[in-house]
Amino acid sequence: MRRFLLHQYKSNGLNIVLDVNSGAVHLVDDVTYDLLPLYETTVLGERSEKTKEELSEKLREENTAETKEAIIEQLSRTYPKADIEEALEEVKQLEQAGVLFTRDEYEDLHIAHTEPVVKALCLHIAHDCNLACRYCFAEEGEYHGRRALMSLETGKAALDFLIANSGNRRNLEVDFFGGEPLMNWFVVKEIVAYGRALEAGHDKHFRFTLTTNGVLLDEEMIAFANQLLPSGEPQIANVVLSLDGREEVHDRMRPFRGGQGSYELVAPKLLRFAKERGQKNYYVRGTFTRHNLDFAEDVLHLADLGFTQISVEPVVADTNEDYAIQTEDLPRAFAEYDALAAEMIRRRKEGKGFCFFHFMIDLEGGPCVAKRLRGCGAGTEYLAVTPWGDLYPCHQFAGEDGLKIGTVTEGITNTKLREIFSKVNVYSKPACKNCFAKFYCSGGCGANSYHFSETAGDTLAHKLNQPYEIGCELQRKRVECAIMIKAMESSEL
Ligand code: SF4
Ligand code: SF4
Repeated sequence: MRRFLLHQYKSNGLNIVLDVNSGAVHLVDDVTYDLLPLYETTVLGERSEKTKEELSEKLREENTAETKEAIIEQLSRTYPKADIEEALEEVKQLEQAGVLFTRDEYEDLHIAHTEPVVKALCLHIAHDCNLACRYCFAEEGEYHGRRALMSLETGKAALDFLIANSGNRRNLEVDFFGGEPLMNWFVVKEIVAYGRALEAGHDKHFRFTLTTNGVLLDEEMIAFANQLLPSGEPQIANVVLSLDGREEVHDRMRPFRGGQGSYELVAPKLLRFAKERGQKNYYVRGTFTRHNLDFAEDVLHLADLGFTQISVEPVVADTNEDYAIQTEDLPRAFAEYDALAAEMIRRRKEGKGFCFFHFMIDLEGGPCVAKRLRGCGAGTEYLAVTPWGDLYPCHQFAGEDGLKIGTVTEGITNTKLREIFSKVNVYSKPACKNCFAKFYCSGGCGANSYHFSETAGDTLAHKLNQPYEIGCELQRKRVECAIMIKAMESSEL
């Protein structure tokens, strides 16, 4: 296995080189760009298989001397010899400075989720919905035909469970999720009140998130969610507002049960919600499908409406669905991400910038990298609670046969299941080890792998560790765009 990893690509007129393990990003000229693969295969050669200690400086110098002429020979048809020599020297210096061809320092760290500490719960406050979204993983809120609303008693037991299982962790996340949580609004408010009453006595702080389609949203709900705590944080710390983009795109996939579109009703209400919380602590979330591969238009539509925090994600679906993104759609989707990135740069320069969640990237890395390699925490730090109080590894596993991990009253009873999930990370996934996006992606979504990788009949652990190929391709493209945007920003400084 290669111990170092470079990823180089061209984007928006830039030659970009990512040294994956150090996270260093280099903008290089054409000669250096063309030289790097030759340098890697010839000068470094065997070194990629060995540790630093196994290679003496002398051997490295010999290799360099032997192969330098061969590189010059190959590139001299395109570039002057002096330029090639200069590029060679520059590459060598970057390597010695520890920002090129660096090795993976994280693989040997113990990155499994070892402590059984729960930090976040997703409460399925309503297994019911007032829309009939065609791509809904919850089967239009029906969840395998068992519609139900969570009782206040179950909601309180869930918070008690979270406190009891959260160790020293002070900040605890609770998501109100569905179906559509506003269909059970009274219970949402009462759970919030119960949580606040528990905080001081247990030295905990709840951060509540509400995900809503906006159909039932009214002034009272907006006021409750946006009301500020003494700390300045809103009562509902974060809200996720479901809106797909242009009216015809949204209405095609997010109709009411009778078939009529929902955009006209929900778009103004969701926008008011975002504005009344000062355009902070929210994001509007859309989904794009095969029917709108020109999804940059939807992102820009949301920005033009007045949203500033935007997420539009590719649908995750069985490839037999007419709206599922197929492998042959990828070039089109890649071009769309490129166009969106270029437009965002243009708008930012004009003072009309907005945040596109999927192009946000932290290139600094630092101590949090090891955490990011652990993935999303499903089944360990993060659990989903059904209306009946059953615990599942995350919302996308809710109701799956054999994946119940416990209940809010009994606690975690299936510790074997938790152990399987605790061992899922980027190094447990063969495809992730050599993927340039691994430090930004956290190894993808286990639920997508479980549901959509072609591994029927395999063990749970094997399924969780398979890549969801189409998702990976799109993820890598987003990482490329995100790095390009950062590079453009820093080159303008
Ligand atoms: S993009 Fe796919 S292969 Fe790469 S790190 Fe993410 S899940 Fe793993
Ligand atoms: S498994 Fe997927 S859906 Fe579940 S919490 Fe992790 S990233 Fe989210």
